[in-house]
Amino acid sequence: MTTKHILLLPGDGIGTEVVAATSRIIDWFSANGAVTFTTSEALIGGTAYDQTGSPLPAQTLTAAHAADAVLMGAVGGPQWESLDYSVRPERGLLGIRKEMGLFANLRPAICFDALADASSLKRELVSGLDIMIVRELTGGIYFGEPRGVKTESDGHRVGFNTEVYHDYEVQRIAHVAFDLAKKRGGKLCSVDKANVLEATEMWRQEVQKIGDEHYPEIALSHLYVDNAAMQLVRAPKQFDVMVTTNLFGDILSDCAAMLTGSLGMLPSASLGAEKNGKIPAVYEPVHGSAPDIAGRGIANPLATIQSFAMMLRYSFNLQAQADMLEKAVSDVLSSGIRTGDIMSAGCKQVGTDEMADAVLEQLEVASKKAAA
Ligand code: NAD
Repeated sequence: MTTKHILLLPGDGIGTEVVAATSRIIDWFSANGAVTFTTSEALIGGTAYDQTGSPLPAQTLTAAHAADAVLMGAVGGPQWESLDYSVRPERGLLGIRKEMGLFANLRPAICFDALADASSLKRELVSGLDIMIVRELTGGIYFGEPRGVKTESDGHRVGFNTEVYHDYEVQRIAHVAFDLAKKRGGKLCSVDKANVLEATEMWRQEVQKIGDEHYPEIALSHLYVDNAAMQLVRAPKQFDVMVTTNLFGDILSDCAAMLTGSLGMLPSASLGAEKNGKIPAVYEPVHGSAPDIAGRGIANPLATIQSFAMMLRYSFNLQAQADMLEKAVSDVLSSGIRTGDIMSAGCKQVGTDEMADAVLEQLEVASKKAAA
């Protein structure tokens, strides 16, 4: 039997609660599938700083490199907000992405039918929505040089940042997006601002070139970011996979996320380049450490549970198991079980552990059905 090792990085606040709930799901798949999962835990974020003086201790990084995949909770909290930027919990997050070369951020925006009324858009616009936004994560204006704020000789201050992309950075993210489109609906929309920004004009050309040379079967389109933002709220179901720069992806993925109605439902994956047959990967919920509800056992674990489903799909190529877990989540929601953040009239409100119990129950039902 194949064994895969998962490093758990619970982090701070509700991170510890949602990762603990998800590790029960991991154990279920380990006991009921073709792959055995072993897990270990390491420190990241504010808790890591308190115990070691660093938000990303060297042992954590070593363990992350050695693992087959990493599942992270969340980092941060008010008690660490006065720390120097270099040791803030968020540095742990940025640090692990950088050290593991995680250049592709996959953010699905899926709207479960049972939650369609929680969206700010009309039910018919979002029900059944299933978009994948692929954001470039390690380049672009967030990292480009020169950057800074300076005072000029006339006394005026000037702030500046630089959008920089190399062709190989565009090509590798384009490959990730095209490969995803191939496994999904066969449609890719690349988002840029090629009419104004030369760097993204080059982006558009490189994406088109990769498409023409390697993926002629994928329907590739290009949109300017302003139009893409408009289309996302006008008719989001026209999209399948979208690929875009770091800055545009940051904004568009949050916009798409809110179409689905709840932060507690959104998973993500960050992937690096394949090396020796292994793709470095960190899976995590989109939400933060939620200090306002931490320690009360009421956090919604479904974003983290769905992040594990993404791990099954993208790190371990266990498509059937990923489908099974996603269906279990959908069935739990359809049965009217809700955590507080997604509660609506007539439903039953539960806490973090009970939500995991409900998912486990649906998994049991599905596996009995499959065996019958
Ligand atoms: P947040 O995502 O932690 O919380 C925003 C709101 O959503 C809160 O009201 C919270 O209670 C609620 N919420 C979030 N996740 C939930 C869940 N699973 N179940 C139920 N309710 C949930 O964002 P914030 O309040 O802006 O930030 C809090 C801390 O988290 C800050 O220190 C911030 O820097 C950090 N943060 C970390 C990450 C990360 O680790 N990836 C992401 C965002 C924010």
